[in-house]
Amino acid sequence: MNNELYFYNTYTHQKELFQPLNPPFVGLYVCGPTVYGEPHLGHARSAISFDILYRYLKHLGYKVRYVRNITDVGHLENDADEGEDKIAKKARLEQLEPMEVAQFYTDAYHFAMDKLHVLRPSIEPRATGHILEQIKMIQKIQQNGFAYEVNGSVYFDIQAYKKKYRYGELSGRLDSEENLAISRELEGIQEKKHPEDFALWKKANPEHIMRWDSPWGEGFPGWHIECSAMSTKYLGSPFDIHGGGLDLIFPHHEAEIAQTNACECLENPLNQAKYWLHCNMITVNGKKMGKSLGNFITLNEFFSGSHPMLTQPYSPTTIRFFILQAHYRSTLDFSNEALQAAEKALIRLLQGIQKLDTLKYAGKSSFTAQEIESQLYQAMNDDLNTAKVIAELFQVIDKIHAVDLKQETLTQTEALAIKELLNNWLENILGIVPENRSNEQLEEIMQILIELRNEARAQKNYALSDAIRDKLQAVQITLRDTPEGTIWVNGKI
Ligand SMILES: [Zn+2]
Repeated sequence: MNNELYFYNTYTHQKELFQPLNPPFVGLYVCGPTVYGEPHLGHARSAISFDILYRYLKHLGYKVRYVRNITDVGHLENDADEGEDKIAKKARLEQLEPMEVAQFYTDAYHFAMDKLHVLRPSIEPRATGHILEQIKMIQKIQQNGFAYEVNGSVYFDIQAYKKKYRYGELSGRLDSEENLAISRELEGIQEKKHPEDFALWKKANPEHIMRWDSPWGEGFPGWHIECSAMSTKYLGSPFDIHGGGLDLIFPHHEAEIAQTNACECLENPLNQAKYWLHCNMITVNGKKMGKSLGNFITLNEFFSGSHPMLTQPYSPTTIRFFILQAHYRSTLDFSNEALQAAEKALIRLLQGIQKLDTLKYAGKSSFTAQEIESQLYQAMNDDLNTAKVIAELFQVIDKIHAVDLKQETLTQTEALAIKELLNNWLENILGIVPENRSNEQLEEIMQILIELRNEARAQKNYALSDAIRDKLQAVQITLRDTPEGTIWVNGKI
């Protein structure tokens, strides 16, 4: 029963029994971050949702190769084919090498994800490390007649593709008029045969700093091609599960499917991945999260409590628990109050488990670890319903309290078995690891040092503020001033 796992497959719009292509092996690809800014709650939701999937598949005994990419080139502003590269723009504004920006925010992402107990993927390929693979794939797509070159740029030919395959199957957007309405491309449209076409390779203007040699001259890859090239390289085609945020379904994932098909050029259209899983977005007090809306909170601000919308710091475990209280496909609304409630609930849960040690044990049990386990599996197997899992855990906690009131009974052996089961599910499957006091302390100490350095700078005591920074650097802690305030990173940058 334990391996009857069902997923909601975006591609088929229904729940399907998970049957890997080559059991016990599972290939999982998830679109990772574009590394040009501080990691925020949206990053956390996607990473945690697929971390749960990764952990659970491993728990069920599958051998999972989890590939999550780092987008460090090609993702242009507004997700369009024109405009400045997100990383190059940040580099220009901060007068840094683009690779310095990508490295800094990759480290910041890793640091935040480690704190949230998100397991590192098996392979974390970078787009800039796979330029050759992308060029080869574009060449193949072009040879197969699904791409054309104009002035050193190469575009995917949607009209040619549609003669052989269906475009828009995943998103359900089969109507090109509708697709155009959401395409925000304004410039460069005259280069394309059809406005629906998207860039595979872009010619680099003289001022463009991220550029590579290619058969079409110096340029850089489009955003979508990296995921087709890297997923094929590491997982083959087709592979088992492709994941990402809901906002990536169109155009990113639709383009990925088209590119992979156009490259393989099979008689029967091939679905790049057998199962497509998408996690929902996070809203803030009912509104979309955005830098321009002033409700954008970075993960470091949550950990330190240094944002006007927060009344206190929140531990990474609380943030993780808050995210898991909702099913990954449901919307999740953040508010300071919701996080406070999550913090209280988590404490109640952990205290409830501890209570198992101090109960008055009986000669027989009115409930068993086995019954609880089967409920937990049932919830998880139903499209990774962590909300249900957590609700089940609280029912167990209620029963533990009922033992105290003599409404339920437990033997000492059963209490021990239940404790082991709950701790295993919490720590290994949900990744809820109670905070290590020393980590919390380090965070608090670092906040004190950052405040002292800010005070020194406000008093123009630069000798002191620089000394604080340099002494921390000597013990491998880097302070970095960002528009959102000073943050600290473990390691030299
Ligand atoms: Zn992607």
